[in-house]
Amino acid sequence: MKYALVTGGSRGIGRACCQELSRMGYHVLINYHNNEAAAKETQQLLEAAGGSGEILQFDVADADVTKAALDNWVTTNKDREPKGAVIEIIVNNAGIRKDNLMALMPREDWQEVLDIHLGGFFNVTNVLLKHLIRHRYGRIVNVVSLSGLKGMPGQTNYSAAKAGVIGASKALAQELGRRKITVNCVAPGFIATDMTEDIEEDKYKALIPMRRFGQAEEVAKVVGFLASEGASYVTGEVISVNGGLYT
Ligand code: NAP
Repeated sequence: MKYALVTGGSRGIGRACCQELSRMGYHVLINYHNNEAAAKETQQLLEAAGGSGEILQFDVADADVTKAALDNWVTTNKDREPKGAVIEIIVNNAGIRKDNLMALMPREDWQEVLDIHLGGFFNVTNVLLKHLIRHRYGRIVNVVSLSGLKGMPGQTNYSAAKAGVIGASKALAQELGRRKITVNCVAPGFIATDMTEDIEEDKYKALIPMRRFGQAEEVAKVVGFLASEGASYVTGEVISVNGGLYT
């Protein structure tokens, strides 16, 4: 059995990534923060399609809690395979928005967004990396955003966090290049999920060359490609999934 972890796998893009990785033959660790019912629903969807998954609750922003949850999983599963179970795919996807103009932004909203997106990337990847290095194979895919590439007004916190993940991914890709571990980012534009339910598609779709918001599955397909063995010579890249929207 091969193992993949998707942070924020309970809903939206994360759920679609869980489904895609499950179709690729992975047993998926479905992480969530608060919405246990949604995480269970993701697990049921995997099982109904003939796959398997398990739920792993932790707040990616909390370094100690994240380390405890992941270390515990590794210890519990150390006898599953000849050399112990290895999470060989990490999809860092968990995220929130706390939009505001910078002049009006409370410090907590700046910090929380950085802690979840950028801190979460570090907290999860840092704990699992030694296992990937020993395993001599791995795929790290970070879900970033168009905001991290071009910056979006009202999203200085989110844009900074996503740009930070892109920079860290490019650096880590170079650290791991020799070890058959790739690190890439997928940068969605507007995708129809809970995160964008307050954004009117009709108002914004004229800006998008494809004239519509994307679906979570359309992002997951690209995540699946970067997580596949076939993407073996792609690393340190950012692939946009945004219907042609850039500037
Ligand atoms: P979503 O539907 O709101 O889902 C967010 C997911 O993240 C949920 O599974 C949530 O868990 C989880 N999460 C939030 N904070 C967490 C924490 N501290 N620890 C662990 N899990 C946490 O959002 P989405 O649209 O699918 O977004 C997924 C990723 O894509 C995010 O990184 C987002 O920034 C990025 N993105 C989205 C869009 C878009 O248009 N939707 C565009 C660009 C980038 P619970 O269910 O437990 O709350």
